[in-house]
Amino acid sequence: MSAHIEHFREDLFRVAADGRVRLLASRCADCGQVYFPRATICVACGGSDLADTEIGPDAELFSFSRVHMPTLNFKPPYLAGLGLVEGLRVFAPVIDVDQPAVGMKLELRALALGDGSRLGYAFYPWRTA
Ligand SMILES: [Zn+2]
Repeated sequence: MSAHIEHFREDLFRVAADGRVRLLASRCADCGQVYFPRATICVACGGSDLADTEIGPDAELFSFSRVHMPTLNFKPPYLAGLGLVEGLRVFAPVIDVDQPAVGMKLELRALALGDGSRLGYAFYPWRTA
């Protein structure tokens, strides 16, 4: 295993000192609309004055599906979730949740992918670690 751990995409998130994830987003200075991933044009008002901001780690489960197909980074079955992060829908795996329920509180934390050499993010139970 490599000693160097890379984010699967450098421009999507950062891991705070507490291990929780902040998503790298943009906020429109004109209307306040937030975008993740970052955007340069606001499709809500047409504005182009967007500033970098961070959202998360708090989230609420909006929808989920139990996945039975293996993928590069996950062995089935696992939970794929759509979470609301400051009102935005964010797709990520749901880890350590046995009884998922729409509306439950979750948080974004870092997740080692594959052989551990890459870092992603996932939804975890809220404030349990
Ligand atoms: Zn706008």
